[in-house]
Formats: sequence, structure tokens, C-alpha cells
Amino acid sequence: PVRVRFAPSPTGMLHLGGLRTALFNYLLARKYGGSFILRIEDTDQKRLVAGATESIIHTLEWAGLRFDEGPGTSGPSGSYLQSQRGDLYRAHATELLEKGAAYRCFCDSKRLESLRAEATLHGRAPMYDRRCAHLSQQQINEKLRTGEPYTVRLLAPNAADPAASDVSGFDDIVHGEMRFRGPAGFDDAVLLKSDGLPTYHLANVVDDHLMGITHVLRGEEWLMSTPKHRALFKAFGWPMPRYAHLPLLMNPDGSKLSKRNRDGPMQSYIDEGYLPSALVNYVALLGWHPGGQQEVYSLKELEGAFTLSGLSRSKSVVSRDRLNWLNRQHLHAGLNDPIRAPAIVAQALGELRQTPGLDTVDISHEAVEGALRLCGDRLTFTRDLHSAAPYLFSDPDSKAPTVPAAAVNKVPRDSKVSILLAFQELLAAEINSVAEGSHTNCAGPERWMDFSQRVALTARVPTKQVMPVLRHVLTGQPSGPKLPDLMGYLPLATMQRRVQAALD
Ligand code: GLU
Repeated sequence: PVRVRFAPSPTGMLHLGGLRTALFNYLLARKYGGSFILRIEDTDQKRLVAGATESIIHTLEWAGLRFDEGPGTSGPSGSYLQSQRGDLYRAHATELLEKGAAYRCFCDSKRLESLRAEATLHGRAPMYDRRCAHLSQQQINEKLRTGEPYTVRLLAPNAADPAASDVSGFDDIVHGEMRFRGPAGFDDAVLLKSDGLPTYHLANVVDDHLMGITHVLRGEEWLMSTPKHRALFKAFGWPMPRYAHLPLLMNPDGSKLSKRNRDGPMQSYIDEGYLPSALVNYVALLGWHPGGQQEVYSLKELEGAFTLSGLSRSKSVVSRDRLNWLNRQHLHAGLNDPIRAPAIVAQALGELRQTPGLDTVDISHEAVEGALRLCGDRLTFTRDLHSAAPYLFSDPDSKAPTVPAAAVNKVPRDSKVSILLAFQELLAAEINSVAEGSHTNCAGPERWMDFSQRVALTARVPTKQVMPVLRHVLTGQPSGPKLPDLMGYLPLATMQRRVQAALD
């Protein structure tokens, strides 16, 4: 069975690239009925940021990426926090020492520094010279006895050794055949630091094995570490997972999507009011091509459509326009989805309650849902609802001057008055016919289908004059939703009040 993991280091908030990695792992697990694991790689105590783990988990929840195993679950491979697995890593380092696949390195930072400086001077990649690999058992015992600090290093395969080829070369799902054999072979990676804590490489590989990971999907920045990881798998004698290194995300100008960029932290997208399903859809298409014309996907649809072969190796360019377009599509489609609609309405309601002037008005869930539907795909964000259609929430100023050239300006004053009086009559009839105790105080759009003919007939004006006048009085704006829809939504008493105000 497929077992995949998202393994963030809690050194800050989740970014767009991190969400993408999590999403692809999640989708692979869902597609094949496997398990999606969240593992927190928090061994580097110096780089930890307080609250980062909680914030990562919260963001995954927001996006709907539920993990099967991870912090707070009772999965078979816990703990899922590396900081609680220190003994495991030390035991595995000892295993390699005993096998002769690793050795203790007593070199101090001064010596390592000078090795680095020398390599740089000669334009070589810095590499440990293996001095400590040649210590005799007696020398080692002596150093241990006097308590000299040491690290544990992997005895990396020699580049000349043909057996090293499955370490240096491998088949990446995204990049295809990879070859990493440098002329000087591989550096002997530090596995255990002198304080007994594992390095990223050791903890990562030990956990990928113990957690039964079958596929490693991660950012391209880890491509260069993969030979090290494969060397470790080999040293332990473990089967290797398959790898897929996801291409970097780029800004439209070709620069790398950096942490300082506003197109980075997920929290800023959440704060800006993007819908989770839109953001997930957007991120899915950064580096994955479904093949075909469909662009708008719900998470459920992505779960069915995802394929590893659709992963692309070319760099993905972020685009706000595309994200905004998707948000509009998801806002519209989500309202017709019984699963997603409640959250969308709740978000809009929360935003309305923070709108100055509306914070004290009592607005129902149903009213907001109706308002969102009325605005249809004119809205990009739920938070635009009030500015797009303020008249859904408060009376417009019907005496305010109309936009120049608006159709309402061409209607003679007398006709306007006749139209309003005729409409008032219609309203009164509706109010009488809405049954006593009826749960709604609106008439519904069907009741207003032919209202302009009816008003025109009573008012003895041309039919085409009716709509502009009523729209102006009811909304204060020259355009907006279809009038029968709007009139079906607004409470009869509200319309009555607005017409009366225009006549006063
Ligand atoms: N902890 C690493 C990170 O923060 C995980 C890399 C990997 O997935 O192997 O990206």
C-alpha cells in the first residue's frame, strides 16, 4: 500500500510550496487508498519557532488535507514528532557503527573549518578528509575514555565502487534518470551531532523506513541530498522508497518565490479571504497537469484525477490572476455544493459582521446565502459582497444623483412618479397575499416575472421605463442582479420603505 508523508520542519509558517508538497502527498494517498502521514521534523532545536507546528496543522485542516497518522493520532509508527524519537536515532547510529558503515569523528570545528577553507581556496566542494575513519580501536577507546566530543559520520560509498551506482543514480518520478557521481565521491555526512541529536539526514531516513514510506514527494531543494539518503538506506540494508522532487515555484518575473514574498505564507492567503478549495485547486495546478481541458477541480475531484505521470519538471509560475479567477469559480460552484456551501456562507457572514455599519445589524445565514447567490459570479471574494451590493443590507439613498447617461435619467419625472405609485399598489397586493404566518416575508422571484408589464400597464408608461426607475429606487445603482431575482430576495416591507422614501 502507498504510504506517504509530509515532513515539515516547524521553523515557521506553512508556505505555498509546502502546501503543494502536502497536497500531492495527500492526493497520492487518497488516489491509491494509502496513508498520508504528517511528521514534524523538529530535531534542530535552534531553528524551531514557537507555535509553528500548531499553525502548520491548522493550515492543513483549513485546506481539508486530513492526515491519517500524525501528531495527536494513535498511528502505528508514532511518535510523529522527531524530537521525541531521539533514542531511536541514536540506536540506529550505533547499529551503523557496529556494522562498520559509520565511524566516530573527533575533529574539532577548527580543523573542519580549515578543511573547508582549503577546499574553497582550490575551488573544490568542501569534503571531510576521513582522517578519523583511520583511527585504531585503541585510539578511539582512549578518546572516548577522556570524554572527547565526537560526531558519527557515514562511511559514504566510494565513487569508484560500482556498488555505489544505485546510490548516485536513481530514477526520479519527476526528473527521470539522475546521476550524481562527482569525481571525488561523496562526503561522509554527519549523522549524529556531538550533542547526541540526529542530523536531518539520519532522522529523515530512519523515519522514512520505520514509517514504511513508499514514495517521497518533496521540494526540488532536497534533490542534492538524495544520494546521501540512498547511501543511508543502503548502509542499513533497507529497501528504498521512490522519489519525486517537485519543481520550484517562481514569481512571474522569474525570481524564486522567497519567504519574504507576500505570495508565500499561507496565512496571508487565508487572511485575504481565499476559499480553501480554490487555493487547493490553484496549488494542484502548480506543477501537475491533469491533461484535458478541465481547470476547476474540487478536492474530491483532484483525489480521483491525480496521477504521478502528470507531475511536471518545469518550474511553476505563480499567478494572482489565475488564483483570483479560480476563487470566483469556486465561490460560485461552492454555493451549489451542500458540503461546501455552509462554510462559504459562514465566511461571508463573519466578514459582514466586521463591516462598519453592519456590525450591529442582525443578518441571517439564509439572507447571506441568498445575497451570495444573487451576486453570482460577479464576486471574486466573499468579502466583496457588501461593496458589490450594499443595497442588500441597507437602504440606498434614492435621492442621490444617478450616474450620467443612466437610463433612469431619460424617464420624465411624471412617469417616474406613476411607476412608483403603480409598483406600490403591486407591493400592497403582494403583502396581502403573502399568507399570514408565512415563514417568508419575500414574494420570491417567480412572482415578479412579468412585473414590468403590469406596472407599465397601470402607470400607462412604456414598459422599458419601468426597470431603470425601480432599479434606481431599490438599489441606487444603474446595474446589478436581474430585477425579478432581486425583488424576490428583498423583503416586501423593505421595498415598500424604499419606494415610499423616493416618493417623499
Ligand atoms: N524537513 C524537511 C523540510 O522541511 C523535509 C524534507 C523531506 O521531505 O525529506 O522540507
